[in-house]
Amino acid sequence: MTLHQNLIAGEWVGGDGVANINPSNTNDVVGEYARASADDARAAIAAAKAAFPAWSRSGILERHAILRKAADEILARKDELGKLLSREEGKTLAEGIGETVRASQIFDFFAGECLRLVGEVLPSARPNIGVEITREPVGVVGIITPWNFPIAIPAWKIAPALCYGNTIVFKPAELVPGSSWAIVDILHRAGLPKGVLNLVMGKGSVVGQAMLDSPDVHAITFTGSTGTGKRVAMASVEHNRKYQLEMGGKNPFVVLDDADLSVAVEAAVNSAFFSTGQRCTASSRIIVTEGIHDRFVAAMGERIQGLVVDDALKAGTQIGPVVDESQLNQDTDYIAIGTQEGAKLAFGGALLTRDTPGFYLQPALFTEATNQMRISREEIFGPVAAVIRVKDYEEALTVANDTPFGLSSGIATTSLKHATHFKRNAEAGMVMVNLPTAGVDFHVPFGGRKGSSHGSREQGRYAAEFYTTVKTAYTLA
Ligand code: ADP
Repeated sequence: MTLHQNLIAGEWVGGDGVANINPSNTNDVVGEYARASADDARAAIAAAKAAFPAWSRSGILERHAILRKAADEILARKDELGKLLSREEGKTLAEGIGETVRASQIFDFFAGECLRLVGEVLPSARPNIGVEITREPVGVVGIITPWNFPIAIPAWKIAPALCYGNTIVFKPAELVPGSSWAIVDILHRAGLPKGVLNLVMGKGSVVGQAMLDSPDVHAITFTGSTGTGKRVAMASVEHNRKYQLEMGGKNPFVVLDDADLSVAVEAAVNSAFFSTGQRCTASSRIIVTEGIHDRFVAAMGERIQGLVVDDALKAGTQIGPVVDESQLNQDTDYIAIGTQEGAKLAFGGALLTRDTPGFYLQPALFTEATNQMRISREEIFGPVAAVIRVKDYEEALTVANDTPFGLSSGIATTSLKHATHFKRNAEAGMVMVNLPTAGVDFHVPFGGRKGSSHGSREQGRYAAEFYTTVKTAYTLA
């Protein structure tokens, strides 16, 4: 089997390979991927540092052409890359292809942004002096990504970093190196000068840590767990570097008495279980007012029982497997904890056997949960959700906001008054009305507040805030 190597200073290097395993079928090895050492990470950082002066001054047409080419190739290969993604991560083929198309759209968007770099020219407060405000690249950007969106998250960090003239050291999650390797290969062949984009696949504690410890990494953008996010923050404060964190969520989805039942059920099922519940924007707290509670729970149960859980690549599969054994154990531990805490496991939660050995879990729905239970406070990151019964809208909003997190917040209602009030008062970075908590556009800001995120927003034009630094220049006329 061919070894997929790391890219350092424009050369494919590294010999020590690790198998990338398919969670739908653990007998299926997706490929062999090199594992970088801390020294490799340091070499990659040095290469990115050396490449920065020239790349930061490169013409906008050069950057535009490379990002455009990447967008075109990703789109042309969407079926193949989508299949690779679903094979290594376990989301359904439709979800894998959809995410691949999204990555192409992101490169396309930032290809356009290269051509729209603007500054401001103002008169000074003093006579005969002019002021210019411009944006410059930050320098070497460290990119650390999680396993749940193997192509979209790397795309939404790499594309703006390149667009605004930064160089990159990129460390993807160990579980899903395949999609990352593919986009780095595409960008490399699209003509990036050597050292501008370096790929170091490997362990967070080794490769990631070497990035955190380097004074030559000027900014780090991280998506992953709260614990690692805190390490990124502490190390970044130490080095006085810019950092951006996207971490967990415990997103509420409120269902009011006046909701359209089918809209509410579809949005709740999507929020809780699609992508196997492995999205930081997934909803695991479904907060339902008492007038619709029993009808909603019955309809949810019916819908859950009809969901097809199977091999991600099989036609008709709606929910793929959990990503690996340790995540599966975490999910089943939380199912046991919920039961011990007194919630009622109303539907699902059983381990499933399929034709191939994989990590199959029936989506689980608890009822009679309270917002104080651990299943309502801690991020589970699997297809496990709990229904919390409340009296009215006011209580629903209080419960929705009573969480350490603040990424996404959803509501199902036909009341303009409640929808408007919820949009204003939900303590979250993103609010969804009659839509799932997950499922966002690529051209508008993404991010949260409270314990979910730190730093400026990702995606859309707001990404410029992180990937550039502002300069104010004064000139005597
Ligand atoms: P998850 O639970 O989603 O795997 P992690 O925070 O462990 O979340 O992983 C997210 C990313 O952070 C991965 O690429 C992982 O390898 C990386 N990572 C883990 N530990 C460290 C560390 N000490 N320093 C830097 N990166 C790390």
